[in-house]
Amino acid sequence: MSPVMAKLTAMVSKEFSIEDLRAVANPTWLERGEKYVTDGQVGRLRSEAGQVTAVVGGERDYLVRLRWPSGSPTGVCGCPQGTEGEPWCEHAIAVALAWLEESSDNEHGDAAGEAPRQDEAALTAFLTAQEPAWLTEQLMNAAEDDPVLWGRMAAAAGLDAAVSLCRDLLREAVLAYVPEAEFRDSRIDDGAERLRRAVALLDDLLDYGFTEQVAEVADEILDTYDETHDDYESEHSERLAEIAESAHALLQR
Ligand SMILES: [Zn+2]
Repeated sequence: MSPVMAKLTAMVSKEFSIEDLRAVANPTWLERGEKYVTDGQVGRLRSEAGQVTAVVGGERDYLVRLRWPSGSPTGVCGCPQGTEGEPWCEHAIAVALAWLEESSDNEHGDAAGEAPRQDEAALTAFLTAQEPAWLTEQLMNAAEDDPVLWGRMAAAAGLDAAVSLCRDLLREAVLAYVPEAEFRDSRIDDGAERLRRAVALLDDLLDYGFTEQVAEVADEILDTYDETHDDYESEHSERLAEIAESAHALLQR
C-alpha cells in the first residue's frame, strides 16, 4: 500500500464508515450505488493527492472524486444531481462503497502485505549502508530513463534547468493528453499518468522555492491546456490551477 493510500485508509476507517454513508445518503440512490458496485461498474479506482477518483459506468460514464475538505469525505460528480451540489449522488455513493470495500480488503490482507514491507525495510537498510558514489551512479542511471526523476533531483539541487525541463514535460504531456479516453476506455493510454507526474514535478519545484518560475509556468501551461482541451476540466487542470494559485499567493506575501 502506498503511503497516501495507507493514510487515506486510516482516515476512512477512523472517520467514515458504511454506517456514516447510510446516514447521509438518500436510500434510493444508496440502492443504485450498491448496484453499480455489484455490477462491476466502478472502474479506475485510485487514490492520489488526498483524493479518491473513479469512473462510474452506466448509460453515461461519470468521473467521480471523493475529497476530504474536513474530517469526512464528500463526492464531486458531473451528473445532474452532482452538478446541483448534491455531495452524495448515486455515483459518489458507488465510489465510496467501492473505496470502503477496498480499504477493508487492504486492512485484512495483512498476510499478503507483510512480505513487501519486510523487503522494503531490507532494501532500505542495504541502501543506507552503500557508498554515496555508488548511490549517485544508480540514481543517475535511473534518471537517464526518467526525466521526472532527473527534474526532481535538479529541483532539490536548486538548478534552474529543472524549470525548463518541467515546462517542456508539461507542455508535451498536455498536448498528448486525451481526456475523453479517461471515460471511454481504460485500456487506452490517455497520457493521464504522464501528465500527473509532470504536474507533480511542478509541485516539487514550488516546494523547493522556485515560486516565481512556478507561477509563470503554471499560468502558461494552463493556457496551453485550455486551448488544447477546450476548457475541459480534469483533475490535472484543477491541480495546475491550485499550484498557480499557491505560487501567486506566495509571491504576494
Ligand atoms: Zn453522480
